[in-house]
Amino acid sequence: MNNCIICNNQFQKLNEYVYECNQCKFLKSNLKPGFGREIEGISEVRKNNFKSIIKKIKSIETKNIKILEIGSGNGFFIEECNKAEIDITGSEADEEQLGLLRKKYNKIIQLSLPFDVSTNNLNNTFDYIIFNDVFEHLESLELVLSQLKSILNDEGKIVLNLPSSDGLIFKTSNLLRKIGITNFYDRLWQKGLSSPHLSYFNSHNLSKFLCKNGYKQIYASSLITVSRNKNFERLNSTIKNKLICHFFSYLLFLFYYFQKVFPKDIIFHIYKKI
Ligand SMILES: [Zn+2]
Repeated sequence: MNNCIICNNQFQKLNEYVYECNQCKFLKSNLKPGFGREIEGISEVRKNNFKSIIKKIKSIETKNIKILEIGSGNGFFIEECNKAEIDITGSEADEEQLGLLRKKYNKIIQLSLPFDVSTNNLNNTFDYIIFNDVFEHLESLELVLSQLKSILNDEGKIVLNLPSSDGLIFKTSNLLRKIGITNFYDRLWQKGLSSPHLSYFNSHNLSKFLCKNGYKQIYASSLITVSRNKNFERLNSTIKNKLICHFFSYLLFLFYYFQKVFPKDIIFHIYKKI
């Protein structure tokens, strides 16, 4: 077992697949990496979070910008960029997903990270590279960060949108794991799914990691996990029992306010290459 990629300290084994750094609390798994992602519902929250990200980027930039999204999935972020009239290129590693995206959108490239340097023809192309729930699925993150520098132009920036190990949901699942209820924790790592999480950062160790690899943080915030409205409708599309739906939508409504005061579950950071 190698030492921590952030602070070089030793890892401690937490369960059969997760290791934690003693010092900075970075978590990594030995789950088998894979392509593709599970079908996501058309989530109101995700879309609103994408709108927040785009709004932030637009507040930073005055000129027209070119964005590359890594792992575009079903293309929701591309759609929001199109609405905002931002030049967006989507990408996918997986052939099947790639084909589906190309049917819907114009600028889609095949890209898996880390890439094969000999085939890369994207030098100095993009102002922004964005990872929406993708960074935590990648191997060889140090190599990835160094390769991204060649794709970014001189003022290029990286946007990271990923789950936090300091968030309320993660902490609660970890507590449950300690008393023997492991399914929530396993679900957060996407254990047993086609593309599980290989790493789990918190806001602090993520900043440290990017800084160590030649990026300067220019913005740090978080995104919401649960929306206030339309929870009932969403639940009712999978659970038919109205009483159960009312019960859970009430819990989610309460959680909407909880998440404002408790540690946030989704990290939203922007870094500039130096
Ligand atoms: Zn560490």
